[in-house]
This record gives sequence, C-alpha cells and structure tokens, in this order.
Amino acid sequence: MKRVRVEAYCDGPPHASDEEEPAVVERTMTIDDAGPAVLDLCASCDQALGYWRSLVESGPKPEAAPKRRRGRPKGPALPTYCPICGHESPTRSALGQHTRSRHEKGLLDLDTEE
Ligand SMILES: [Zn+2]
Ligand SMILES: [Zn+2]
Repeated sequence: MKRVRVEAYCDGPPHASDEEEPAVVERTMTIDDAGPAVLDLCASCDQALGYWRSLVESGPKPEAAPKRRRGRPKGPALPTYCPICGHESPTRSALGQHTRSRHEKGLLDLDTEE
C-alpha cells in the first residue's frame, strides 16, 4: 500500500530561520478586489495574520458615503434644471444626459440658445 503525504510549507514571507517552515494552518484570505487565496501558514505567520486581522476589524471603516466637498472648486453654482422642461438634475453632467436623451440637445446647445 502506498500513501501520498502532502507536506505544506508556509506561504508567508521569508522566515528568520531562512528555511521553509511547515505550515500548521490553512487560511483563506481576501484583500480588496482580489479573489480569495488559500494560504498555508506556519504558527508565527498565522499569528501575524491574526494581528493584521484584528487591525482590520478594529480599524477605521471606509466611509460609506464619501463627502465630495473637498477638492472641488466652489464656483457659482450652475443651474442644474432643464431649461426646456424644468427637470432638475443632481449635477450638470446628469443634466447633460437628460437634455441629450429627452430633448436630443447637448447642454452646450442649450446654453448658447437664448
Ligand atoms: Zn511562516
Ligand atoms: Zn428636460
């Protein structure tokens, strides 16, 4: 009878010992948009991962609704309502889409029309 033994070694960064550490645990990790990766980790790397995980869990959360106030020059607000039908759009570009799709005119065409 033959038996195949799979030996897992740590996928972590180079270890102090400079040798491959046998993995003791398998973790599935996802970072941002990257797909989940299965990592074999030795005890010390798993501990490090636990540290990162606790940081991530307790750290600041990304803002749900990023405020767009900063970095935008505040000029006089351009009207965002449609001069033809009065439809109000949240932004100038949304208004442009509205005028193009509803009235087949770009904003620029409308602005030059008196
Ligand atoms: Zn390791
Ligand atoms: Zn309109």
